[in-house]
Amino acid sequence: MLRIAIQAKGRLNEESIHLLAEAGIQVEEGKRKLLTRSEDFDIEVLYLRDDDIPQAVAMGVADLGIVGLNEVEEKGQPVEIVHKLGFGKCRISIAVPKGEDYRSCAWLEGKRVATSYPVILQKFLDAQGVRAEIHEIAGSVEIAPVVGMADAIFDIVSSGATLITNGLREVEKVLFSEAVMIAAPGLEQEKKQLLDQLMFRIEAVERSRGMKYVLMNLPDQKIEQATSVLPGMKSPTILPLTIPGWSSLHVVINEKELWNKIEQLKVIGAQDILVLSLEKMIY
Ligand code: ATP
Ligand code: MG
Repeated sequence: MLRIAIQAKGRLNEESIHLLAEAGIQVEEGKRKLLTRSEDFDIEVLYLRDDDIPQAVAMGVADLGIVGLNEVEEKGQPVEIVHKLGFGKCRISIAVPKGEDYRSCAWLEGKRVATSYPVILQKFLDAQGVRAEIHEIAGSVEIAPVVGMADAIFDIVSSGATLITNGLREVEKVLFSEAVMIAAPGLEQEKKQLLDQLMFRIEAVERSRGMKYVLMNLPDQKIEQATSVLPGMKSPTILPLTIPGWSSLHVVINEKELWNKIEQLKVIGAQDILVLSLEKMIY
C-alpha cells in the first residue's frame, strides 16, 4: 500500500484530487476526513497542510506527496522529486515599492526583507553576496512595506496583480515553482512498483492534454497529400469506407494546431470531420 499526502485545502487541493481521479483513483473530498482509502488502487490519501508535506514524506509518514516546489525547497527535507505536475505554477520574487530606484541586488544591502520563505531567500542573498535582514512573517507579506515593517518583500507571485495593488514592483524572479510529486528516499520494492504504476497512469493523462482525436473522410487519391500536412504524426490510421474510393483517416492533433490543420485538410478534400477529446495516451 502507498500513502500519498496532498494539501487538505488550498490552491493545490482540487487539482491534486483531480489528477488522482484522472489516474483512476477516486478519493473522497478531504474536507472532513483526514485519511481516505481508495477503492480501486492500493493507495491511501493523507490530507495535510502543504507546509507539513515535505517532512511527512521525508519521515516516511507518507510515501509520496503532491506539493509546491517552493515548499520542497524551503523545507530542505531529504525527499526525491519524482515528477513535475504542471499545475500550481507561480514564482517567488523580490518586490520593492514602485518608487524605489532598484537596479540590482546591491540595493538590498542592509535592507529589511519580509518573507515566508527565509531559507530560499537567504540562499539567494548568499549567492549574490548581499547581506539583508530577513523578517519572517506567515502571511500578508505584501503589506509589510506599506505599514513600514520592511523595505522589500520576497513572496509568491502568479499574475502580479497583488503586487500592483500594493504599490510594489517585481525586481528579481528567484524561483519558478509548480506542483511536484515527491517520494520518500529509498522506497521499498512493493511501494516502488506501485509508484511506477501510478506514474504510468499520470503520464498517460499528461500526454493526452491538449491533444484531439480527429476523424475525417477523404477520397483515396488525396490520402498522401493529407498525410503530408500532418508531419508530426507517425502514421495516421486509414480505414476503407463502404463507398468505393473513399477512406476514413484518423489522427491525433495538438489543439494548438487543430484549426490550421483542419483548414488545410478541408482544402485537400476532407469531409465529415469529427474532433474528439482524448483522455489517455498510452504508448
Ligand atoms: P496550507 O493551509 O496548506 O498551508 P497555504 O495557505 O500555505 O496552504 P496556498 O495558498 O493554498 O497555501 O498555496 C499552496 C501552493 O500553491 C503554494 O505553496 C504554491 O506552490 C502554489 N501557488 C500557485 N499559485 C499561487 C498563488 N498565486 N499564490 C499562492 N500560492 C500559489
Ligand atoms: Mg502552507
